[in-house]
Amino acid sequence: MTMQYVSTRSPSAMGSFTDILLEGLAHDGGLAVPVAIPQWSSETIQSLSGLAYPELAAKVVHAFADDLGLETLHILTARAYTAEKFGHPAIAPLTVLQEAPHSRLALLELSNGPTMAFKDMAMQLLGQLFEYQLKQKGQTLNILGATSGDTGSSAEYAMRDKRAISVFMLSPEGRMSQFQKAQMYSLQEPHIHNLTVKGSFDDCQDMVKAVSADLAFKSSMRIGTVNSINWARITAQVVYYFTGYFQAINAFGLRYGDPVDFCVPSGNFGNVLSGHVAKSMGLPVGQLVVATNENNVLDEFFRTGRYRPRKSAETFVTSSPSMDISKASNFERYVFDLVGRDPQRLAGLWSDLSIHGEFHLAGDPAWSAIGRTGLVSGASHHAARLETIRKVHDRFNRMVDPHTADGLFVAQQFLRPPVPMVCLETALPVKFEQTILEALDMPVPKSEELQAMEQRPQRTVAVSQDVEALKEFIRQHALVAS
Ligand SMILES: *Cc1c(COP(=O)(O)O)cnc(C)c1O
Repeated sequence: MTMQYVSTRSPSAMGSFTDILLEGLAHDGGLAVPVAIPQWSSETIQSLSGLAYPELAAKVVHAFADDLGLETLHILTARAYTAEKFGHPAIAPLTVLQEAPHSRLALLELSNGPTMAFKDMAMQLLGQLFEYQLKQKGQTLNILGATSGDTGSSAEYAMRDKRAISVFMLSPEGRMSQFQKAQMYSLQEPHIHNLTVKGSFDDCQDMVKAVSADLAFKSSMRIGTVNSINWARITAQVVYYFTGYFQAINAFGLRYGDPVDFCVPSGNFGNVLSGHVAKSMGLPVGQLVVATNENNVLDEFFRTGRYRPRKSAETFVTSSPSMDISKASNFERYVFDLVGRDPQRLAGLWSDLSIHGEFHLAGDPAWSAIGRTGLVSGASHHAARLETIRKVHDRFNRMVDPHTADGLFVAQQFLRPPVPMVCLETALPVKFEQTILEALDMPVPKSEELQAMEQRPQRTVAVSQDVEALKEFIRQHALVAS
């Protein structure tokens, strides 16, 4: 029996993993979720502890994607996760920062991939999954997306060598770091289209939504998405919680079954949702700490039970820009679990949200369910971010990026030795060198290769905020099935 997917807002069947691979959104506005989270015994989980990352990834992803054979997944994960691409045979190595008796603090390095942000952990596999499925069906795909920096880059590097896929990526003109711009815009592949928009990330996102709302256009142009609600991305990210757990108990001399806490710099709630899924499967995760920046909508929820997303005009521009999100799309999947996976309840809450702009869970049975999930939260801010970058550099002789610094800052409030705290490193400092310079008063060392990248010619097309014009551009440049 293959794993089936349903919408969070109605029991309507959405098919199997490959049916939802290109689209995380249900017709009723809900999100695709597996009909049940696979449950693994401690024996099963322990038997995975010696596996290399690609093998582990095949096993974990197969639990959600059993319509793809395990053999096939082995081939795809072996292509996605190479030491060459990720700079380390462990793919996601754990680095201990502090031993007992003070605390047991470690970083799980997720940003050693091609674009130096943790998005590569999922996107590299997504590229393989898309390519495989398109080959099976003899089809082509046109990916349309909007980015504020890391996602677009990661998607383009994952798809640049895929002949059956073209990418149309909208980005807000002048709002990304120099480095992020150089990384994305220096790609010269003719099927990668970087479209710049005079406006904000939300304006770009709105244009993508408007094009996607034209279902006839979408299907005739074979448009797919790689945004953070894509379930395959969530699944791929579950894998590194397993390797993070195994490496932590080894590094700190613990036994299988002892809890390990994780701290996750959060924006769209995709990363920490994957941790929640890993814990739900049976991995002995203790606390899952949600770290936000000044945009603290999620922190407010976990402290008070009140969920009140903000408008884009109320979203602060901060020095950890990839977390500047006030409406975390994947949060819906977590609340679905809190309300006992009852689509009617979930739909009710989201209807409250659209009418009143908020909902409250305090006092609701769903509120007490949070304790079992282990999620707790805290917020960081600019001064704390800089201070943390300085402290980590002084004490451990290591530079961390502003997002990882937010995680480390919030993690301190939840340390409970002897339980280890694994902080997820979500980007490398070189991507955000201005903030590092401000914190440490020294530049981030940069390889010759990266310096050369910044000198390469950049290739972009300016588009106006006109949905029809965007559609016309796609019509003219889209790949059509051979
Ligand atoms: C995307 C991103 C985040 C936020 O991750 P979510 O899955 O959206 O919660 C945090 N840090 C960095 C560097 C990112 O690129």
